[in-house]
Amino acid sequence: LGGSISRALQQMSNATIIDEKVLNECLNEITRALLQSDVQFKLVRDMQTNIKKIVNLDDLAAGHNKRKIIQQAIFNELCKMLDPGKPSFTPKKGKTSVVMFVGLQGSGKTTTCTKYAYYHQKKGWKPALVCADTFRAGAFDQLKQNATKTKIPFYGSYMESDPVKIAVEGVERFKKENCDLIIVDTSGRHKQEVALFEEMRQVSEATKPDLVIFVMDSSIGQAAFDQAQAFKQSVAVGAVIVTKMDGHAKGGGALSAVAATKSPVIFIGTGEHMDEFEVFDVKPFVSRLLGMGDLSGFMDKIHEVVPMDQQPELLQKLSEGNFTLRIMYEQFQNILKMGPIGQVFSMLPGFSAELMPKGREKESQAKIKRYMTMMDSMTNEELDSSNPKLMNESRIMRIARGSGRQIREVMEMLEEYKRLAKIWSKMKGLKIPKKGEMSAL
Ligand code: GDP
Ligand code: MG
Repeated sequence: LGGSISRALQQMSNATIIDEKVLNECLNEITRALLQSDVQFKLVRDMQTNIKKIVNLDDLAAGHNKRKIIQQAIFNELCKMLDPGKPSFTPKKGKTSVVMFVGLQGSGKTTTCTKYAYYHQKKGWKPALVCADTFRAGAFDQLKQNATKTKIPFYGSYMESDPVKIAVEGVERFKKENCDLIIVDTSGRHKQEVALFEEMRQVSEATKPDLVIFVMDSSIGQAAFDQAQAFKQSVAVGAVIVTKMDGHAKGGGALSAVAATKSPVIFIGTGEHMDEFEVFDVKPFVSRLLGMGDLSGFMDKIHEVVPMDQQPELLQKLSEGNFTLRIMYEQFQNILKMGPIGQVFSMLPGFSAELMPKGREKESQAKIKRYMTMMDSMTNEELDSSNPKLMNESRIMRIARGSGRQIREVMEMLEEYKRLAKIWSKMKGLKIPKKGEMSAL
């Protein structure tokens, strides 16, 4: 996809006269590419219309960077499409919320329920899982296995066939046990059937979820819009999780799901394992969709804001891919200063959305400072190692004591380190473009 879009823009850029015809040809090429990426036909057409309104032919003719202008317009339009305008309900730690998962069979509900629970558990929540799937044989066993592996309390039954009854019992039990995130996994069918939607409606009515999450397999292609809409019509879908983003699917279906449910995508699933789960971040996702590469904006930003004499060292560290706790410490310092490098890192996919969620900057800064205090109690050996096995129990206890924090907090900091190390490692072997090369797309 990225190839054909950049080709289209290249052709336009070479044209001596930029008239309506050239712009149209370019937009048609981009349309084809987006359709191949499973973006719904109607959405692509709307986008095309909007871009024509935005892009001013006179500006293009005046010799401004044509590709940049059009690329930016497409980028902005796609970002706008992924933003339904209001955030989804966000559960609060320590306050009971019920979250119900819906979606077709095989979309990844059960897996995603556990990932969602595990994600919050690592952040100190008390989640619990309720299996209200009585349709599929083995559904309870699957949830039980996932829950046991991650040490999350669960509820379900082999005997009971009424999903509503189990859902209500489970939710009540975990409310009594003061769980703050009660997750209800529901059944699916292979097809969108009346019986399924009726069941979803009943479970939702009985458990009164604070949030209903629609889980969608990213590989379903053009079917995404109708499927999402069908669920939205029977239950109050408030957020979307797109799964199997590790596969071949380009993920254009996410745009359709947002458009159909008027709800934001909150996470994506990137594998079968519990921690292959990422907070959804609009901009890097759109970059990937357009084939601009995760890192092109990032590299541009480095050249733009990092002082020349500091660029080589930073890029060198990036290309080595070894993320030590000391590097994390230095990056935290940069982020707190909100200096140039901090700005750069806030653009890295996965860095900003989790570390510094919008509107919670104060809280995030306090968290980063807390992490740094703990790292102050580490030895040089610990700071310079990129081997997570080094951090054994006795070292963790020593650091907690030394910094006056809880063991749980030290473990949370180390989890954050692992997460950031994973992002960082993607840059290993990165070919470092010279200034100017990146802006050529
Ligand atoms: P459910 O029927 O909706 O509950 O779906 P399951 O949770 O049972 O998942 C169906 C299959 O998809 C299982 O084999 C999962 O391991 C797999 N799966 C779920 N999420 C992902 C993902 O993000 N990536 C990959 N590669 N596989 C996934
Ligand atoms: Mg299931």
